[in-house]
Amino acid sequence: MDNLGTLTGIRDALGAKAASSVEIVRDCIRRIDTARHVNAFITVCEEDALGHAARADAAIARDGMRGLLGVPIAHKDIFCTDGVRTTCASRMLENFVSPYDATVVARLRAAGAVMVGKTNMDEFAMGSTNETSFFGPVANPWDVGRVPGGSSGGSAAALAAGLVPAATGTDTGGSIRQPAAFCGVSGLKPTYGRVSRFGMVAFASSLDQGGPMARSAADLRLLLHHMEGHDPRDSTSADEAPTPHAPQRTMNVGIPREYWADLGEDVARPLEEAVESLRRLGHRCHEVSLPHTAFAVPVYYVVASAEASTNLSRYDGVRYGHRAGEPADLDDLYRRSRSEGFGIEVKRRILTGTYTLSVGYYDAYYGQAQRVRRLIRQDFLDAFGQVDVLLTPATPTPAPALGALTGGVDPTVMYKQDVYTVPASLAGLPALSIPCGFADGLPVGLQLIGPHFAEDRLLALGEAFQRETDWHLRTPTVPEAA
Ligand code: GLN
Repeated sequence: MDNLGTLTGIRDALGAKAASSVEIVRDCIRRIDTARHVNAFITVCEEDALGHAARADAAIARDGMRGLLGVPIAHKDIFCTDGVRTTCASRMLENFVSPYDATVVARLRAAGAVMVGKTNMDEFAMGSTNETSFFGPVANPWDVGRVPGGSSGGSAAALAAGLVPAATGTDTGGSIRQPAAFCGVSGLKPTYGRVSRFGMVAFASSLDQGGPMARSAADLRLLLHHMEGHDPRDSTSADEAPTPHAPQRTMNVGIPREYWADLGEDVARPLEEAVESLRRLGHRCHEVSLPHTAFAVPVYYVVASAEASTNLSRYDGVRYGHRAGEPADLDDLYRRSRSEGFGIEVKRRILTGTYTLSVGYYDAYYGQAQRVRRLIRQDFLDAFGQVDVLLTPATPTPAPALGALTGGVDPTVMYKQDVYTVPASLAGLPALSIPCGFADGLPVGLQLIGPHFAEDRLLALGEAFQRETDWHLRTPTVPEAA
């Protein structure tokens, strides 16, 4: 397939009346069908999208271009959408239709964006490979025998395959940044609280954050602008103004040594070249230390599973979601609805989370994890006393083969892959993942982490890097579906 182009490119073409929204949306729908074996979408909304596109074209003709009018977008299937099912890639919510839109969906809709469908993901966003989805795994467009990453694997694969120019994702411990890295696209996890979580299905409430995914940092900036802001319906949404970044300023870039210790040569090389590119742009790069990094994965999996076990207790087969047939009594209804509705990874999290919260273990696990979490956060705050941003690898390896980390493999092998993304999540910091090269033909991602509310700074550095390099513009040749 030829190149779909970037979000800003499509917006400008619509503004210049060089293309119509109906044409662009129809093209996206055709692309999604041609790449249906990638399995990036759980639901495609062809009719609604074309109707919305026609109205957008009429509005552009009448009043001119504004916002994201007529631009196609895909939403991760964790965001509630009025009238279109929201499955969270779980049998539990297979037929759930929300009666309202998530705030993120509503804001993007109000800006004129046209939703073309809902993207595949790991079940309830638990996973790093997109293989825990009830709707089947997603293929990595760079090599269909490999995983796209997770949990926002459908959004990342849809962007990489050129099916849509923009998508939403959510990131609890890396689910925007890691699939972006594996698929060679750009993704931003905003500061905890920057983007409303109203209508976003909860996984781990002290960590969950929605954010934009696209083909460039400039596109992420445009999307974030239409997603962010205080929402009275989300009590954790921040009322704080973002920290503006002075353009042209050179930055102090910290390179945390703990993040490079176990990195393979294939991933280290593109990252070292990226550091050289930033030096050529005048930025100062030097080593720093985040001494508690090694504790981040165990802390994350204790905290996230504990919160998940609480959040997922609402799926009881009574109010909504999967309900077991012909229950013998109420206990049987609960037991069978949950046994049938949830997949194995979700059950594992519920069981471990319930265990760590139980009387006698709470302090040894959950309490201890929260204390260590504060040390991890303090590491970052200390580092930001010396540097403006931190530059790290996004993942320890490029995309693994389908099946390599699941199906009988010790689950902690998969959990350890999140080593570079979970620390910023535990500290609530914004972090950007952008492509910086290839290892054996597979994309490698670089991560920029900033202080709270410094998204502007991360995006400015990402944009500067992408003006110097063309990694983000490379696209795979995806074989067409049979
Ligand atoms: N891979 C991590 C997990 O399985 C992160 C997932 C996420 O950010 N939603 O929990």
